[in-house]
Amino acid sequence: MIPAVGYAAHTAREALRPFSFERRDPDAHDVLIDIHYCGVCHSDIHQARDEWGGAIFPMVPGHEIVGIVKKVGKAVTRFAVGDTVGVGCMVDSCRTCESCKEGLEQFCDTGASWTYNGTEQDKKTPTYGGYSDSIVVPQDFVLSVSRKIPLDRAAPLLCAGITTYSPLRHWKVGRGDKIAVVGLGGLGHMGVKLAAAMGAEVTVLSSTPKKKEDALRLGAASYAVTSNPDTFKQLAGQFHFILDTVSAPHDLSQYLQLLRRDGSMVLVGVPEKAEPLPAFPLILRRRSLAGSLIGGIRETQEMLDFCAEKGVASEVELIAMSQINEAYERMVRGDVRYRFVIDIKKGI
Ligand code: NAP
Ligand code: ZN
Ligand code: ZN
Repeated sequence: MIPAVGYAAHTAREALRPFSFERRDPDAHDVLIDIHYCGVCHSDIHQARDEWGGAIFPMVPGHEIVGIVKKVGKAVTRFAVGDTVGVGCMVDSCRTCESCKEGLEQFCDTGASWTYNGTEQDKKTPTYGGYSDSIVVPQDFVLSVSRKIPLDRAAPLLCAGITTYSPLRHWKVGRGDKIAVVGLGGLGHMGVKLAAAMGAEVTVLSSTPKKKEDALRLGAASYAVTSNPDTFKQLAGQFHFILDTVSAPHDLSQYLQLLRRDGSMVLVGVPEKAEPLPAFPLILRRRSLAGSLIGGIRETQEMLDFCAEKGVASEVELIAMSQINEAYERMVRGDVRYRFVIDIKKGI
């Protein structure tokens, strides 16, 4: 076994603190990664605080992992020692069901192995995430990260990037589309950058006026504040597509009314409480409401390659591991521009 150190939540109510554990020795198909950076996703907070239920403690969060290959198993063909690589929200899946065969491992029939707060495919060994100094992952779940993207700014692509890229592609967002991104946080700012790079005209709908300049710099064409009720009158029926990244409960029907006929709103944010959903905003203009979950491994690689080609990377604020609890508080207050990334090399 390989000794590892990280930060873990031990219960839903305690602050995260240092934690020692072990990684398995890499087997033939495994890659041992020396973690350099790990992004901090709002899902880490939801899970460390057990807001979605079913949390497995101790929990080492973190699923926006980038680092350098330290060792490879005998059968590893795709990676070599020294490569820059990433790991996102999954570390394995059954590989045989219909979804896995189609490269949609996130929808695996028997359950993907989440990077943390989950189990390996034996359904009993707990997984530990990227708030740690190393990780061992089968090569099929390791992504190649181009050296064109600064490694710290690449980390958030592994969740925030793919979670916004995948629905934009699935709903074929591109030139000629007017779209809105709701919530300018970690996911939202990647949604703006990616949709703009795909040629769409993007409006940011934010709860605060404070992020306007940033939104325009990130590639948005316009900006509207949702605490102003006039916004919902002025923008009624305007958008082909809305990507909703908000992490807290909010009134979905207000946003649905901003869609044109046959428009779609896709939820990626996962608030801990449900909102009621009246039928009228949907039926009146044949609008759709859908959800989307991260993206498969193949599409994650496609997104990373797209970002390298288009010069897209995340806006990050680097923190030391010991600042994680303070970072969580700031994220809950919406005080992050736009992703905290833990500099693991600063020490644990
Ligand atoms: P984040 O960085 O904290 O951003 C969330 C944004 O939502 C905030 O910046 C804020 O934007 C807005 N917001 C927060 N509270 C609000 C409120 N009460 N009313 C209106 N707007 C509010 O979080 P994130 O990491 O982007 O994650 C966002 C959500 O996506 C989380 O629920 C997370 O669990 C989920 N997620 C889902 C997937 C998936 O696969 N579907 C993957 C990753 C994350 P403004 O300040 O601009 O209003
Ligand atoms: Zn995430
Ligand atoms: Zn499967």
